[in-house]
Amino acid sequence: MQDLFKSIPHKFPAKDKALIEKAIEFATKAHTGQKRKSGEDFVQHPISAATILGQIFPDTATICATILHDITEDTETSHENLEKEFGEEIAKLVDGVTKLGHVRLRNSKDEYYVENLRKMFIATSQDVRVMLIKLADRLHNMRTLHALSDEKQQKIASETLEMYAPIAGRLGIGSWKDELEDLSFQIVSPKEYNETKEALQTELAKRDKNIKEMQKELSQILKLEGIKFEEITGRTKRIYSLSKKLLRYENDITKIYDLHALRIITRSTGDCYAVLGIIHKHFNPVPGRVKDFIATPKPNGYQSIHTTVFDKSGEVFEVQIRTDLMHETAERGIAAHWFYEEKGKPKQLEKGQTWFAELRAWQEEMAAHPEEFLEGLKVDFFKDRIFVLTPKGDVKDLPVGASVIDFAFAVHSDLGYQMMGAKIGGKIAKITDELKQGDVVEILKSKKAATPSRDWLLAAKTSHARSLIRKYLQENDKGIFQRVRELKLQDISSSLPTFFRKK
Ligand code: MN
Repeated sequence: MQDLFKSIPHKFPAKDKALIEKAIEFATKAHTGQKRKSGEDFVQHPISAATILGQIFPDTATICATILHDITEDTETSHENLEKEFGEEIAKLVDGVTKLGHVRLRNSKDEYYVENLRKMFIATSQDVRVMLIKLADRLHNMRTLHALSDEKQQKIASETLEMYAPIAGRLGIGSWKDELEDLSFQIVSPKEYNETKEALQTELAKRDKNIKEMQKELSQILKLEGIKFEEITGRTKRIYSLSKKLLRYENDITKIYDLHALRIITRSTGDCYAVLGIIHKHFNPVPGRVKDFIATPKPNGYQSIHTTVFDKSGEVFEVQIRTDLMHETAERGIAAHWFYEEKGKPKQLEKGQTWFAELRAWQEEMAAHPEEFLEGLKVDFFKDRIFVLTPKGDVKDLPVGASVIDFAFAVHSDLGYQMMGAKIGGKIAKITDELKQGDVVEILKSKKAATPSRDWLLAAKTSHARSLIRKYLQENDKGIFQRVRELKLQDISSSLPTFFRKK
């Protein structure tokens, strides 16, 4: 109990503290006699998970529910009992987690994966806190995985890599995503993990002197230019994300510029841009490497400016510039937004809310075509996204590989249906053209309603566009075979000798 409160940097009101203490006592009693595979008392697990959770999201109800999350599943305690002791909110959260836990293995791997994901997303769209609890639960299990058999370790680790880490990423909880990825990667591919780690350490050791010098130089320059900032820190690239990136760079680690990035935490958004200007004044930037995620945040809410510059000796450095709040958001994602208070009122979820709205709409679309569920899910939620702009500067985020067709339908379904052409960056383009990061796309409408065709389906990558096109085709093409038949018959009959013609 002491540990829990000590490691959560949050001042709980006395009433909340008492409730958390009550939850711990209740869980300890209920789990009496149960042990983990490691030999320690079972109750250690939910308490540790609650500590992990509280560090990014110190919400009393959610902490209590995490402490109680294995109770209805593993002990005699009933839902009603829990509701009576802790109220409806907490009991409902525990219920949500318990339902997520009932995973039924089907005959094929894919089906099992899909079924799990479906459950997760449904639960998440109902109350994101259920997913936060599940992730904290999984993170603690991953930290203590060594006690299990090899086979179980493999199963849990690959499930984590395929499912939980991407979800943490989608919710913007960078710190959890990173840890989940590296812990599971180490188990799923120990050889690759060790090789990547070694390569990273060797390379960093070579750059160590430059890194320290660059850090010193940056801080001197900023002081000289009169910019006040919170701190300059460094961050080392994570093993899993490095190994993925290496695949795209022919395994040449010297081509990867962000093995170590310098991070400048500023006092305001304006200062972020000022710092960028100062850095570019003193160091030559690598062309095409400035990314402004402040003006166009990633879909998970991530904000920061990234640039890559040459230092005095020609060595390449990535610099990330962000405010304190942006940094918190990068680490805690959706939880940071939920918890940051503005003028005494808890701030509502913003980025997350749009995502949940999208999620619901998308689930309805998907329900009609379950066979596309997995494919759609991979493309829509887990793949890298690109940002594409309307001529007025509205940003649409789309999966990599999306075409003009996807963009048009993302703006408005009518725009999609009436589209006859497009301009990308002012130049005439085909509607099947693939879009690139930052493209400005203008859709040209036809005066009469245009006609989506089957070809459009080939170029459409998002399930949103695909389902709208399919809907159109179903409604308008239902007579196609009949029409073909009619046409053919006429053609044929007119070419037939008169005595064959029907009267
Ligand atoms: Mn658990």
